[in-house]
Amino acid sequence: MNWLKQITYCLVFSSLLMPSKSYSQSASFQVNNYFTSPEAEQAMQKACEIWGNILVSNTTIHVNFYWVDASPFGFLGLTLSNGIKNFQNAPISNVWYPTSLAKAIAGNDLGITDVDIDMYIDSTRNWYLGTDGNCPAGQFHLVKVLLHEIGHGIGFYSVANLDANGIGSFSTVINPVVSALASFPVPALNGEPLIYDLFVENLQGEQLVDTLLFLNPSSALTAQFTGNNLYFNGVNTLNANNQSRPRLYAPNTFAFGSSILHLNENSFSPNSADGLMTPFSSAGETNLTPGPITLGILQDLGWTINPISIQNSYLESQVLAQNYPNPFKKETTISFFLNSSSPITLKIYDAVGRCVRTLVNHKMSAGLHQITWNGKDDFGNNLPQNMYIYQLCTPHQKLSRKLLLSN
Ligand SMILES: [Zn+2]
Repeated sequence: MNWLKQITYCLVFSSLLMPSKSYSQSASFQVNNYFTSPEAEQAMQKACEIWGNILVSNTTIHVNFYWVDASPFGFLGLTLSNGIKNFQNAPISNVWYPTSLAKAIAGNDLGITDVDIDMYIDSTRNWYLGTDGNCPAGQFHLVKVLLHEIGHGIGFYSVANLDANGIGSFSTVINPVVSALASFPVPALNGEPLIYDLFVENLQGEQLVDTLLFLNPSSALTAQFTGNNLYFNGVNTLNANNQSRPRLYAPNTFAFGSSILHLNENSFSPNSADGLMTPFSSAGETNLTPGPITLGILQDLGWTINPISIQNSYLESQVLAQNYPNPFKKETTISFFLNSSSPITLKIYDAVGRCVRTLVNHKMSAGLHQITWNGKDDFGNNLPQNMYIYQLCTPHQKLSRKLLLSN
C-alpha cells in the first residue's frame, strides 16, 4: 500500500541518558508512524523520551501513531491499549493488564507480536508542534496530548462502560469504536476488570469491582459510574497525594473513554503538576511531566518507576517534597523549594505533636534545598521507630508531611 507512509524509529535511552548501572532499566519505545509529518514525529519522539526516562522496562513498548483527520469524531486524541491476562508472573489472576505493563512485569515480550498501543491524533487541530513548553495561547500542545495518550496506553485506562440500556459494567461491553480502530484483535474481556479498575472506589471506600457490593453488570454500577464520587485508592497514589485519595472524573452523564479513566478536572487544574491526566485539553495548556499522582497510580498498577523521576516530579510540583527514602532507617533527605530568599524553619514533630528536632532555623536563599535527617532528636538520641511529621514554615506558608522512621 503505497499511500501508507510508515516510518519506524526506535528510541533507546538507557545507554544515552543513564550513565550509571543502577539506572540502566529505563524504557524504550518503538513507534510506527502513519500519515505523520516530521514535526509530529518529533513531538512523539519527545513524548516517548519523557516516558522512557520514567518507566522501567527491559522490553520495548510498541506504538502505532495515526496522525489523521479525526474532526468528525471530535476528539483530540484516542488511545487503545492492547491487553493480556494470566501472563507469566502476573500479580493478580483473571485481571487484564495493558500489554506494555505485562511485558515489563514478565521481563520479556510474552510472545506478543501486535502493538501495545494504537494512538489516533486529530491532525486538523491548530497544534503547537514545538518540543519545548512554550505553547502559545490558542494552540494545542502536541507533546502534552501525546504524553497524556501514552499515559492511557500504559494503564491509566478503564474498561468501565454502559450498554445500550444504560446498564454499567466492567468488561462486558466493548464499544464498537474500539473494535473498529484497534490494530490488534480485541480479546473477549469476559467481565474481568482491568488492573486500574481494581483501585477505583467510592467515597465510602467501596471497591467498584467488588461483585458482592455491585453486580457486574448492574444499574448499581451505573449509579457509581455517574455519581461524581469516585476515587483511586492505592498505597503509592496516597503517598503521592498527602495520604488523600485523588478524585476521578465521574460526571453525571457517562462519557465513554473519558469517565473514570481521568483525574477530576476540578480537583487538578490543567496546568498544575497533576493536571496531565485530566479529561479536557484546552488550547494553550502545557504540561510536560506526568506529576506525582499519575506516577503513584502507575506504580500501584505494577509499573516500576525510575526513582529519580519520582523525586523530580515532587520537586517540580511541590514546595515541600516527600522525604526520600521513606520509610528510612539511617538517613533521609527532605527537599524543598523557595521562590525567594526568606527566614524559614524546618522541624520534626512526633506523632503527638511535640517538636523533637529543629533541622533549620535561619534565612535561606531562593532555590532548591536538600536537608538530611539522621533520625536523632535535638540531643543526639536515636528516636524510636514511628511516624513523624516534618514541617516547613516560611513567612507565607506552613507545609507538613509525614515520614516513617523504621529501626
Ligand atoms: Zn484522556
